[in-house]
Parts: sequence; structure tokens; C-alpha cells
Amino acid sequence: MAQTAFAAKLTTSKEVVDLSLIDQTGNPCENFFQYACGNWLKSTPIPGDKSALYRFSEIDENTLVILKNILQNYQTGNNSPVQAESDKLGKFYSACLNTSGNEVTAKKGVDDLLEKIHLLQSKKNFMLLLASLHRQGINPFFGIYSMQNPGDATRMIATIDQGGLGLPEKGYYTDQENSKIRAEYKKHIKQSLLITGIRTEDAVILTNKIFKLENAIAKISLSAQDQQDPIKTYNPIGKMALQKISPAMDWNQYFKSINFTTSDVLNVVGPDYFLKLASLINRTSLSDLKAYMVWDAIRETSRFSTIALQNEHFNFYGKIMNGTTEREPHWKQCIASVDNSMGEALGESFIKVAFGQNSKDMADTLVFNVKDSLKEMITKLDWMDDQTKVGALKKIGKLNQKIGFPDHFRSYENLEVTDDSWFMNTLASNVMQFDETIKKANLPVNRTIWGMTPPTDNAYYDPTMNEIVFPAGILQAPLFNANSSLAANYGSTGATIGHEMTHGFDDSGSQYDELGNLKNWWSKESADVYKKKAQCLIDQYSSYKTDEGIALDGKLSLGENIADLGGLKLALAAFYKTNLNIPEDDMKTFFIAYGQSWCGKMTKEAERTVINTDVHSLPKFRVNGVISNLPEFAKAFQCSEGQAMAPKNRCSIW
Ligand SMILES: [Zn+2]
Repeated sequence: MAQTAFAAKLTTSKEVVDLSLIDQTGNPCENFFQYACGNWLKSTPIPGDKSALYRFSEIDENTLVILKNILQNYQTGNNSPVQAESDKLGKFYSACLNTSGNEVTAKKGVDDLLEKIHLLQSKKNFMLLLASLHRQGINPFFGIYSMQNPGDATRMIATIDQGGLGLPEKGYYTDQENSKIRAEYKKHIKQSLLITGIRTEDAVILTNKIFKLENAIAKISLSAQDQQDPIKTYNPIGKMALQKISPAMDWNQYFKSINFTTSDVLNVVGPDYFLKLASLINRTSLSDLKAYMVWDAIRETSRFSTIALQNEHFNFYGKIMNGTTEREPHWKQCIASVDNSMGEALGESFIKVAFGQNSKDMADTLVFNVKDSLKEMITKLDWMDDQTKVGALKKIGKLNQKIGFPDHFRSYENLEVTDDSWFMNTLASNVMQFDETIKKANLPVNRTIWGMTPPTDNAYYDPTMNEIVFPAGILQAPLFNANSSLAANYGSTGATIGHEMTHGFDDSGSQYDELGNLKNWWSKESADVYKKKAQCLIDQYSSYKTDEGIALDGKLSLGENIADLGGLKLALAAFYKTNLNIPEDDMKTFFIAYGQSWCGKMTKEAERTVINTDVHSLPKFRVNGVISNLPEFAKAFQCSEGQAMAPKNRCSIW
């Protein structure tokens, strides 16, 4: 892509640690989160269009402004033919901003989808219809995609997984405490049906049928906790065997229709789900199946659909589920949508303005030192036997890192983009991504691809690739600043790097070997000690309660809590590599940087959703839960034993 001239607002030069955010009246030994973030918490309200706000949300705002400048420049349309990608980016953004154009084309788009469903005459062609919906990114009943094969990390494998629920988790359909949400959800279904032109009396009847079927799907679905289990979710099965498990579903028809012909084997995330799903489909009337698919098609497209459907979607998912009071400005949704559909093209322009060589160099050094510390930590572990250590060290030896942006940016040559339909552009992008993922099934793994786009303010560890990935979007101030002190950068981004690396050794990641195969490299003795140590963290986090009195689920969040604890410990060890005699004040800065990297708050609605479905703990406990396990913290802040942040018994894993 040719360099374009525009005046983008450069990244904020904010320091990683901001002493003015500290609540000086708070006691760091009793509640460190409150101490490190107290003034921020007091002076920063959650904006109406957000359900959660973090100190690092500044990065997102700043990135949005940069991306807006880039896209506005591409919108002018005077890009030369060689700039086909920037032209497409500009068009995609324009189409999203063109609300009147989208109103007409989305209405037609929804009508066409519903017509396609209504045309289904018998269950014989049911799987053909599903295939066609899945291709467009609409996933009633289940979804299909390719992933790296956990049994053979060199190849991809097609995977089918449960799906098609409008509420976040199966518990929402039955739990007593969610009865109000269920009632609101039913209202939302009815309201959406009415918007698409269904008569009031029909809408009431259909809503009940739809909810009943969703409820039945929820009942046979895997829980959020089971979905975290790499063993339970890996079930390579032949196409014939799948047909036997679920006779009421014509898989041959389905696979042919989506062009999945490269392999006879696929991974079935929950075989029991598909067994029961087939019988559910078998005993449900065709008209009820169609009613549910109509609803699913409306629901899964409403974010980019007609304004009435967008608003109705927001009323339920924004207001009721997340406590947001107003919608995000439309241009921000448009940028998120461009990033979602053409993220690497957008990212290629982003890094030119927002990621300099000094950032890359510093991030590389941090990664190097944290990785080195992990190696030393494993070598010194007293509870792990030598045989298991060999496996662990092999794993670190092969650990790959991707920092900033990919070496090669993917092409969007096959994506058709119009300038008047956000709806159709999004479906076209879904089709492109679907065809690509199916084409990959059974092919050798491409180790150069990225799972996040460069502007993304997030990072990940992928156990099947055995790699950590840090996009340029998260290596931004105030989380990271090449000009801030080492103490600050190690406490903040160093801890995140350590966190992602530790995922390779959390309850789930530790079941993969150095190449990314789901293969046990643990001796029974070491595995038993590990389990016991993990139980300590389960108990610790399960004992925490929110201000509303809701208890955390220490089992669901175990992997993340292990990574949080390991992450800060590794960051500290890595920081020691820069100076063996860290001055007292720097040690405090290190911990404050960690605390302030998690300054955040969320609406009570969002908090409940997070506790039920998110594998991460709430910000307060990500800070207090971790630092209270580190004696170095108590020493730095001179806490005495028995204070909340200096308990007598600590949990320790790595
Ligand atoms: Zn994590």
C-alpha cells in the first residue's frame, strides 16, 4: 500500500505510572487496587455508551482517532488502481456511514434471508439451508471452522461446535437469578419479529416457540467451564461416524454444499451435543425449526441491519445485558466493523503512524528477559521432577513470539465491497472468511498468520502454535511507553507478556507439548502437585465477592488467574535482570504500574455477565489476588503479616 499523507494524532505520550491516580488516603496493604487506582475510580465515570471503562481505554480512543484519519483519507476515492486495498477500505467505511443506503439494502437483505428460510419445504433439505446460512456467518444450531489440529499440530482440522444461542451461556436459560433477563429476552425476540413485519398475534406465538427451542438447545450444550477443557473438546471423528451419531442430519449434503471435501475426519467439540441435537431436530416440527432460524438470522445480523433492528439489538444487549445507556457513536462502530472485515489492510496503515522502531526494540527486550526468567524459574522449581522439567524447557525453547505486526499482510482481493451497503459488505466478508476457513481444513498449518489485527488492544497465547502475540495496538501508552521507566514498563507490559507466556503452563495450556500437540509430557507426581497448587488458587478466587455480594467462580477463571500470578512473578524476575539491586522506590513503581494497568470499572450488569461467562477475573481481583500472593509486594510496602494483601498462607505455582 502506498504511503498516504495525512495528519494523524500521534499516540499519547502518557507515562505508564500516574501518581495522581493514587488514593493517598488508602492503605496499600489492605486494598492495593483501591490505593493504586482510587483517584481514577473516583474521578472517572463510565460513559453512557460503555459498559466498562479502563484506564487503558485511552488507547482505544486514541487508536480510533488514528484509524478514522486513515479511513477518511481513503474515502476520497482518488486512490490509483494499485491502491485497490485502500480504495476498498474507504468504500467499506463509507458504506457503513451511509445510513440511508444501508437502510434500503439491509431491509432487502433481511427479507431475502427470511425468504430463503421460508422456502424450505421439507426437512430433507434442512442441511442445505444450514450450509447456506453458515456461509454467511449466521450460525443456528452449530458452527464450523478450521483450527490447528490438537492431535497433529502440523495440520489444520475442520471443527464443528455448538452455537445458536442468544443468551451468553446455558445457565441463563434455567437459573433462578436470570428469570428477569429471560423475560426481557423474550420481549426482545418479539419486538425484533415485529420490526421485520410479522403480525402481532403471530409474533407472540412464534416467540414462545423460538424460546422453547433455544431452551432445548441450551440444555444439551456444554457449559462455559467444559468448553475450556482441551481434552473434552477434542474429538476427531470420521464423517461416517458423525452421520451415525446424528442420523437426522444429512452431513453429506452439508459438507458437499460448503465444499468440505478435503478430509474424512473432523473435530466434533461435543459429540453428545450433536447426538442430542439430531434427535431434537427430528422431533421438532419444520415450522418451529424455521421460526428459530428466522430469529437467529435476524439476531446475528442486527448489529449492521436496519436502524430499527440495530436499536432493538442495543436495547437488549447494550442496556439490559450490559447496563450501557446510549449507543456508541456510529463512526466508531464503523471502524470496528472495518477492522473486523479488513483488519490487516487497515493495520498496515496503522502501524506506519503508531508503532515506531523504539517501541519494537523495547518490546523485544521485554519478551527476551521474561522468557529467560521463565526458563530459570522452571529450572529452579522444587516441586517438579526432572523428566517433566525437560518437557517444560523444551516448550519454552520452542516458544515463538509475534510482536507488533505480521511480516506479510493478507490480501482482500476476493472481497467484493459496495459503497451503499454495510449489511451486504459484512455478509460478503463473512462468506469470504467462511470459504477460507473451510479451504484450510486438513492443509498444513501456516505459522505466519495472526489471530488479531495490528490495531487490536489485546494480546494472546495460542497453545497449538505455542506462541505469544502482541499486536502494535496494545504496545501503546499508558500500558507501554518506551520513554517511561523500566520499573513501569516491566510492571505493566512485562506482566502481560509473562501472563501470556504462563498460559502455556496453565491448567489447559500445560496439556500441549512444545509443538502444539495435545500430548501429556507430565509425570503423574508432578501433575498431582500441580493440581493441588491450582486448587489453592481456585479456593482463593472463589472466596472473593463483588460489592453486590456475587461470588467469583474460581474454577472458570483458573487458567487466567494462574497466568496473572505467573505473569507478575516473571515480570519481577525479568526486572531484576536489569538491576540486581532494585531501589525501594522502583519496586513500588513496579507494583503501582501493575495495579494501574488494571484501573477499571464496569456496570453491575456487565459485572454479572463477566462473572458468569468471562474466564478473566474482575480488575480488582486481578490486582489484589495476584499481589497478595507475592511476598515481594508485602516487603515493598512494608505490610505486616495478616493484613489483607499480606496473608499468612500464599498460593504459588510457578
Ligand atoms: Zn489470559
